[in-house]
Amino acid sequence: MILENKVAVITGGTRGIGQAIAGKYAENGADIAVIATRKTEEAESAILELSETGRKVRLYICDVSDPDQVASVAEEIIADFGKVDILVNNAGITRDNLLPSLGIMDIDDVIDINLKGTMFVTRAFIRNFIRQRGGNIVNISSVVGLMGNRGQTNYAASKAGIIGFTKSVAKEYGRKNIRCNAIAPGYIETAMTAKLSEAAHEELKKSLAIERLGQPEDVANLALFLGSENSSYITGEVIKVDGGMYV
Ligand code: NAP
Repeated sequence: MILENKVAVITGGTRGIGQAIAGKYAENGADIAVIATRKTEEAESAILELSETGRKVRLYICDVSDPDQVASVAEEIIADFGKVDILVNNAGITRDNLLPSLGIMDIDDVIDINLKGTMFVTRAFIRNFIRQRGGNIVNISSVVGLMGNRGQTNYAASKAGIIGFTKSVAKEYGRKNIRCNAIAPGYIETAMTAKLSEAAHEELKKSLAIERLGQPEDVANLALFLGSENSSYITGEVIKVDGGMYV
């Protein structure tokens, strides 16, 4: 198993893409610390399902946009698991609207959770990685951070910011044996994208080189590769999983 004896932290790992990554990592031998904002029935059943792999799995409640909560949950996770090898910064939200209609909170929340959250969580674990002389960070950006999108100025800016952050962390810590890469998913079927109508889905499919919508599993497969030693000479990279949406 390619993640045998590894410990992974996955933010937003109770649903959608994060849940698929957590599942893929656990199936491949990793123990998992999942971070989410709420202990819902859905979150608890996701954790139960993950535990059925036989791996150690725990849920931690933390808002990634709050640096104090992040610092204390990071300490708690390292104490519980003894170490952390892989960090997947997946937690994210959208607050879509045309720029004049975006409220200040729509801008703040998206930047605070998506971009600053990624920075806070990485900052909280980086000393652990340096001490361990190794670590691996996988950030979930978006194809929208590369190509832009109408109605998503706030979201695209947050995801483009993650790309700059990823490349900078890769350069700052490569010599410490810490890698940092980003995944840029296209349109993946999760709760985040469920609002789109059936007709819009059909239209979207036709615009893709591979005429199907992405599944969380498609992203999880790449996250597994990036989280494993199979990608040991890859850092500072941004890889799209978008069915040819942006070629
Ligand atoms: P999702 O189903 O809405 O799940 C989002 C996850 O993030 C949930 O587990 C949620 O936890 C967590 N989260 C939200 N705010 C948080 C906060 N402040 N602190 C901690 N956790 C928080 O979304 P998804 O579609 O799986 O998206 C996952 C990631 O992929 C996001 O970064 C998203 O931007 C990115 N992405 C998605 C798509 C797509 O098409 N779906 C495309 C490109 C990129 P709670 O359950 O506790 O709220």
